[in-house]
Amino acid sequence: MTDIKTEEGEKKSLNFIEIAVENDLKEGKNGGRIQTRFPPEPNGYLHIGHAKAICLDFGIAQKYNGICNLRFDDTNPVKEDVEYVDAIKEDIEWLGYKWGNIYYASDYFQQLWDFAIKLIKEGKAYVDEQSSEDIAKQKGTPTQPGTNSPYRDRPIEENLELFQKMNSGDIPEGAMVLRAKIDMANSNMHFRDPIMYRIIHHPHHRTGTTWKAYPMYDFAHGQSDYFEGVTHSLCTLEFEVHRPLYNYYIDLLKENDDYRPRQMEFNRLNLTYTVMSKRKLLALVKEGLVNGWDDPRMPTICGYRRRGYSPEAIHKFIDKIGYTKYDGVVDVSLLEASVREDLNARSTRVSAVINPVKCIITNYPEEQVEELEAINNPEDPNSASHIIEFSRELYIEREDFMENAPKKYFRMTPGQEVRLKNAYIVKCTGCKKNAEGEVEEVYCECDFNTKSGMPDSNRKVKGTLHWLSAAHSLPAEVRLYDRLFSVENPALEEKERDFRELLNPDSLKVLTNCRVEKFVAEMKPLDYLQFQRIGYFNVDVDSTPEKMIFNRTVGLKDTWSKINK
Ligand code: ATP
Ligand code: MG
Repeated sequence: MTDIKTEEGEKKSLNFIEIAVENDLKEGKNGGRIQTRFPPEPNGYLHIGHAKAICLDFGIAQKYNGICNLRFDDTNPVKEDVEYVDAIKEDIEWLGYKWGNIYYASDYFQQLWDFAIKLIKEGKAYVDEQSSEDIAKQKGTPTQPGTNSPYRDRPIEENLELFQKMNSGDIPEGAMVLRAKIDMANSNMHFRDPIMYRIIHHPHHRTGTTWKAYPMYDFAHGQSDYFEGVTHSLCTLEFEVHRPLYNYYIDLLKENDDYRPRQMEFNRLNLTYTVMSKRKLLALVKEGLVNGWDDPRMPTICGYRRRGYSPEAIHKFIDKIGYTKYDGVVDVSLLEASVREDLNARSTRVSAVINPVKCIITNYPEEQVEELEAINNPEDPNSASHIIEFSRELYIEREDFMENAPKKYFRMTPGQEVRLKNAYIVKCTGCKKNAEGEVEEVYCECDFNTKSGMPDSNRKVKGTLHWLSAAHSLPAEVRLYDRLFSVENPALEEKERDFRELLNPDSLKVLTNCRVEKFVAEMKPLDYLQFQRIGYFNVDVDSTPEKMIFNRTVGLKDTWSKINK
């Protein structure tokens, strides 16, 4: 981000793309029009890296009164599917954006074809019949020029005829390609007669079997930008080396100097403890290593949604990391910190006991039930509250009791007092164990003067525990998620070990024996909760009143960095 002083003397902070866009506007380029596009290939679900691109593409359009269109880059029918098209739309809307139009690169197949024919007629393209291996061998290296294909100078008429054949279904896949005739000695490898078209016999999800010859990314992307009137084509840094080729085709295509699209590149997002390549994410899904694209451990937008991240939390994170010209890996703790910050303000506080043990208040009347007030969100001054019942038989966390506790243990242990949140101070008197020595019941005595509003309500004790009335709580399943990979940068280690071997075997723990307060039964799937003292949770989409299921979104604190550093 760079601080800029406006002509009015105000200071504003802009990233390098915003600066370039403002300069283009100042120079009156493209008639002062701003148009961007988000161009996903519908071959998988969107991930948090795409969210970064989305926020920029749509964000720039919003900021400069332009439009951002959604363009499906569907030039490879083998991997693409309508399922992905629908999911991509849903995720963009969930992030809070509206596209101007929806386009498909396949809408331009005819225009691209016509453009290819034009280039053939001008002697700027030829059909090559060599194998892909031979073509690769002739490419040369960055320091050594390539060699010309023996088919490079075949007559235009022959090229036209063969190109038609490439699309008729008579030619097997891989037997021919159409190449641009540029310069096999160019220092930019992308200029060494790049492939424009290849043959694919697989039917296309939109155009069916109409086409057999399909344009390559480089022959489709810039031209699609041009056909649509895109002014700023924002993409990730790996396309920087493609930019001269992008401009080469645009120059051959453009009809006047009033308009041309401009490609600009920014750093892609990589996150620790996960992978972002769609190929690998697809493999995890297909091989059942996760439970679908929306598995809450996945770095996909639908995974994060199901896990309980809000769109605002994702925006907060993207704002924090910003846009630069340098690739790097972002610590996932930064994403989690944004989520915590967001959920602290947003979530409803409730009580849940995820590893329960019975706790009996022996001096509390057997039939008595008190309705205590619990504030839904203490961070919100206008927060509503709800009722939580207190009675003689409670559940507390097993970890909150210890028979022989060390000195600094401020939870429940015989002889020690603790406060039960929103209720009383109790003193632990002992416990009952089964034959295996496992604690079955914990016993306490209540100090009746310590309830809020009573004379001793302000008396201080070191520990405060959460609890649930056994008779007034409900059973629930709780899913605890951890990082999907056990190594910080799976992509780096991949050379020695397959990424599947780097999966964290403890990334999901299912607790089936949990209890939640009754109030939680009113919650709807995806509602944001904080289980007090435990973490942020949400209601899973598969949760029903009969079987409630909760996902741990993120812990209250970053415990991971302490454990592993
Ligand atoms: P893959 O190569 O794994 O299939 P992709 O990056 O090619 O994925 P696309 O669907 O082509 O995925 O991407 C659509 C847009 O999102 C592109 O403009 C691309 O640059 C951007 N994008 C993809 N991944 C990231 C990322 N990790 N960080 C930022 N932008 C990304
Ligand atoms: Mg791509």
